[in-house]
Amino acid sequence: MIEIDGHAGGGQLLRTALALSLCTGEPFAMDGIRGKRERPGLLRQHLTAVEAARDIGGATVEGALPGSMALRFTPGGIRGGDHRWTIGTAGSTTLVLQTVLPALWMHGVAASLAIEGGTHNPQAPSADFIADAFLPVMAKMGLEASFALDSHGFYPAGGGCIRLDLHTSSRPAALDLSTRGEIVEKHARAIVSAIPSKIGERELIVAKARLGLVEGEASLHAVHGAVGPGNALSIRFRAEHGTAVFTGFGEKRVTAEAVAERACAQARAWLDAGVVADTYLADQLLLPMALAGGGSFTTLTPSDHARSNAALIEKFLPVEFEFRDDGRGRWTVAVSR
Ligand code: ATP
Repeated sequence: MIEIDGHAGGGQLLRTALALSLCTGEPFAMDGIRGKRERPGLLRQHLTAVEAARDIGGATVEGALPGSMALRFTPGGIRGGDHRWTIGTAGSTTLVLQTVLPALWMHGVAASLAIEGGTHNPQAPSADFIADAFLPVMAKMGLEASFALDSHGFYPAGGGCIRLDLHTSSRPAALDLSTRGEIVEKHARAIVSAIPSKIGERELIVAKARLGLVEGEASLHAVHGAVGPGNALSIRFRAEHGTAVFTGFGEKRVTAEAVAERACAQARAWLDAGVVADTYLADQLLLPMALAGGGSFTTLTPSDHARSNAALIEKFLPVEFEFRDDGRGRWTVAVSR
């Protein structure tokens, strides 16, 4: 039984522990879950991740209750096939997906997953990020899967749906992503649901000015039929060896211009540093690369998140992470056995 102190991080530590427990068959006990957060313990979206992990892994679980700060998780055997989970709030569907995907992949089972909830939430990868930035790297590592955004779900109403059809894939293979290559495509898309199009248009004016986009590199997408109102600005840069997605999330009392400025600042930092992975993608590459037993990528200054996640991964797997500062905001992250 691996013992984990949840105070060291947030929900991500729990999701990483669930994913690794499913991959390795090692049970774990976590105390102090999200202990330093304003609302500590398990929230609805974390409980859905636990539920999904339990279903995928035929697991025995103790402590999976709202607000619980302690969980024991003992996996059984991996079960592919059809699964559907409903978060019931705008909790992130993509974070639930990332909890179960590694084990299904590692165990070489086929599965068809549908997850209902938020698809474009602050503090989580958007469905566009998963489709354009995360899954293409996984595909290079051997994942065979098709992803679909069936319907958009925004905070706070949720009600969106993502689907992943996972084919039997070979185990994750090591990958080195050091060079980005030339930018071959760039695009900013403002998504609006049940709010004036003008908001998206104002975001696009900022994106064009800050990122030098021309006509045809910016578009407005009005979503019809989503459960609630919402807005996101999704900026995509496709380079020869990787794609980055930067997302601005519309919020009450924050101007459209401020939402766009934030996303553009993230994009500019990535462009200027000449690295492959932005800070968020870096967080999300650690686990698959550790499962592959090797790999490296260039990135921006790693988050605390990445550091605490790496330390947890090292508890489950016989791997070591190296975070190397290459100077001028460029870092290399490498994992080896
Ligand atoms: P908490 O316990 O406070 O809810 P958490 O660990 O669940 O924290 P975060 O630390 O905010 O959540 O991060 C969740 C994950 O979402 C991380 O993998 C992070 O890289 C990713 N993420 C956050 N924002 C973005 C974004 N804008 N684009 C892509 N990925 C993101």
